[in-house]
Amino acid sequence: MSETCDIAIVGFGAAGIAAGIFAGQKARETGGPAHIVALDGAKTIGAKIRVSGGTRCNVTHERISAQDYNGSKNIVRNVLAAFDAQAAMRWFEEMGVKLKREETGKLFPVSDSARSVLGALMRRCEELGVEIWTGCRVHELMTDQAGGFVIGHERGRLDAERVILATGGRSLPRSGSDGFGYELARRLGHSVTATYPALVPLVLDSAFFHAELSGVSHEVELATVCAGKAVDRRRGSLLWTHFGISGPVVMDASRHWVIGRASGGGVEMRCGLLPGETVESLEVELVRLAAGSGQSVGRWLAGRLPERVVAAVLKHLGIDSGTPLPQLPRDRRRGLVHALTGLALPVVGDRGWNYAEVTAGGVPLAEIDYRTMESRKVPGLHLVGEILDCDGRIGGFNFQWAWATGCLAGGAAGNCRAGRAL
Ligand SMILES: Cc1cc2nc3c(=O)[nH]c(=O)nc-3n(C[C@H](O)[C@H](O)[C@H](O)COP(=O)(O)OP(=O)(O)OC[C@H]3O[C@@H](n4cnc5c(N)ncnc54)[C@H](O)[C@@H]3O)c2cc1C
Repeated sequence: MSETCDIAIVGFGAAGIAAGIFAGQKARETGGPAHIVALDGAKTIGAKIRVSGGTRCNVTHERISAQDYNGSKNIVRNVLAAFDAQAAMRWFEEMGVKLKREETGKLFPVSDSARSVLGALMRRCEELGVEIWTGCRVHELMTDQAGGFVIGHERGRLDAERVILATGGRSLPRSGSDGFGYELARRLGHSVTATYPALVPLVLDSAFFHAELSGVSHEVELATVCAGKAVDRRRGSLLWTHFGISGPVVMDASRHWVIGRASGGGVEMRCGLLPGETVESLEVELVRLAAGSGQSVGRWLAGRLPERVVAAVLKHLGIDSGTPLPQLPRDRRRGLVHALTGLALPVVGDRGWNYAEVTAGGVPLAEIDYRTMESRKVPGLHLVGEILDCDGRIGGFNFQWAWATGCLAGGAAGNCRAGRAL
C-alpha cells in the first residue's frame, strides 16, 4: 500500500498528539485542510499518558523555568517561552479539561483521570481530521529527490511533504518507545548523545536496612558525589522500598547517579536524614544535651525522624536507642552525627528502562531550530518530545516539554503547508 500526505507524524504519544493538534489548527487558520497522518506502532494510543501521574496525569506545573530541565538552558528557555504553563492550562481548558493545582504546584485534571486528558486530546484530533494509523510501526524514514520523505511502515509506504518525528525515548519500552526513533534520526544524519534511564528508582545493596523500612517516606537532603565532587544536591521526600529507594527526591537525583556511574569515575550518594542540619550544628546540640540532660539517643531522635527509621539507623550503627546521651562515647556520637548528615547509601544500580519515567540524552538541541523544532540538518523534518536531549524533573515538566515542542513543530508544519515561509 502506498499513500501520500502533507504532514506525517511518526510516533503519536504526548508530543506527537500536540504536534498533530497544532498542525491541524494552523492549517485550518491558514487555509488548510492539510492531510495529516499520524503513525504509531502501538495498537492503542496514549499508553504513557494513561499511566502517568499514577493514572491521574500531571499535565504541567504552575511554575516552569529552564532550571527545571537538564538540557541546553538557552534553547529550553526559548521553547518554554513560546508555550508556557499558562498556555498549556488555557489549551486544556479549551479542550474541556478543567485543571486543579495541588499544593506542590503540580496540575492535574479535576477528574483525577488520565483517561479524560487522553479522551480530550483524541476528540480534538478527530475534530481537526488528524488521521491516526495504529499498529503501524515505522521502520524506515528517508528523504526523496523532491525534498519530501518516504516512510516505510508495517503496512507499506507513505510519502509526506513534512515529517514530525515524535518517537519518544527508551523509557517504558512496552508502551512502544524502545529507542528506535534514535536510529531513524541517526540515519538521516543527526547525532544522538548517550541515553540513560532518568526519573528512575534506585536499587540498594540487599544487605542494607532499606527493606525493613519499606513504605516509609520522609524529607531528606540527597547529594550525588562523582569523583569526590558533588554534582547534584536536592531536598525532598524519599521513599524506602523493598528494593531500595524511590520518591521525588530520588527520582530527580537518579540521572546524576546513573550518568556518574557510566562515567566510570566513582559515584556515591549521601543522604542527610535531618535536612538543614550540619555536622557542626548536631555536634553542638549533642554536646549541650549531654551536659544538661539524661535524654536517650532514641528519645532525642524520636520527634525528628519516623520511628522505624530511627530504629534501623541506630541498629545499623550498633547504638542502643536507650543509651543516655551523656553516656554515648565520642566516636559513637561522631558516627551518629555523620550518619544523620550524610548517610552513605549503597546504591548498586537503577531499576532500568521498565521503571524509568524519562530518558536522559538524545538528539542534541543544537541540531534543531528552536522556533520551529525543525532539524538544522534535514529541511522539512521536525523533532519533538523525549527523543530530544532534554529531560525535566518530576512534576509535570516532561509533559510540558512534549506540549511545547509539539506546539512549535505543529504550528510551523501546518503553516508551511499553507504555502507560507516558516
Ligand atoms: C510511568 C510514567 C509516568 C509518567 N508520569 C508523568 C507525569 O505525570 N507528568 C509528566 O510530565 N511526565 C510524566 N511522564 C513522562 C512523560 O510520559 C513523557 O515525558 C512523555 O510521554 C514523552 O512524550 P513523547 O511523545 O515524546 O514520547 P512517548 O510518550 O514515549 O510517545 C512516543 C510514541 O512513539 C511511538 N513509537 C516509537 N517508536 C515508533 C516507531 N518506530 N514507529 C511508530 N511509532 C513509534 C510509541 O508507540 C509512542 O506512542 C511519565 C512517564 C512514565 C513512564
